[in-house]
Amino acid sequence: MASSVLRYSRVALRGKPTFVAAGADGAARALSAAPWLGGTPTGQTLTASELAAATPLCPVEPSKIIGIGRNYKKHAEELKNELPEEPLMFLKPPSSLLGPGGVVLLPPESTRVDHEGELVVVIGRRVRRVPAAEAWQAIFGYSIACDVTARDLQTKDKQWARAKGFDTFCPIGPSVVPLDAPLGGLRLELRVNGATRQAAPTSDMIFDIPTLVAYASNAFTLEPGDVILTGTPEGVGPLADGDAVSVHIESLGELSFRVAAERR
Ligand code: MG
Repeated sequence: MASSVLRYSRVALRGKPTFVAAGADGAARALSAAPWLGGTPTGQTLTASELAAATPLCPVEPSKIIGIGRNYKKHAEELKNELPEEPLMFLKPPSSLLGPGGVVLLPPESTRVDHEGELVVVIGRRVRRVPAAEAWQAIFGYSIACDVTARDLQTKDKQWARAKGFDTFCPIGPSVVPLDAPLGGLRLELRVNGATRQAAPTSDMIFDIPTLVAYASNAFTLEPGDVILTGTPEGVGPLADGDAVSVHIESLGELSFRVAAERR
């Protein structure tokens, strides 16, 4: 079945979170579980109106969200950072996840919250210390994220847990595109209120995807459904109350979300 599935999404069907496989034949089939956990079709096919009425959910439920900092040369330069000699890794908590069409909340603790459009790697099998040459086999597919970052707190705190980890700071979606072949360079573009802020090919990464998967797996056992946010290109900038943001990656689709000030 995998080869005929174009993308996997997750929706709330009458309140029940359900993984859905969109097939090359145009059908949307409900799955018993996440596809990377062996989910299979339940026999339920969703009509277009059922899908339209369903609430979109984040398409992954990772045990950990691994972020990679300064993985595009021009982005490191725009923040006046030195280029890393090995991948710079950090974690975002699963409580920061946000589904497509959600609202990123600007916390009162920060006066500068930035967008960082990023390609997401979704892990497909449990691996530990996987060599880069075998890392493709550990990948289930790809998605899109915004690594929302409180830039002032990133500088102030030194540790990045709070700056990267507020609730809603990790929108991912709209779907997971399965690919079992090496990924070529894809054009990434982030827009705020329709204006392009970031645009670059993912081939501009300093450390490539197999290198990142191997490096992360040397520290952590990677579980199916875990995600790696692979870094952002140049053009990061502030978000404001009322902004509408979209991150488009060629062949993967478009992730959209809105921004609002958090009310306490
Ligand atoms: Mg980032």
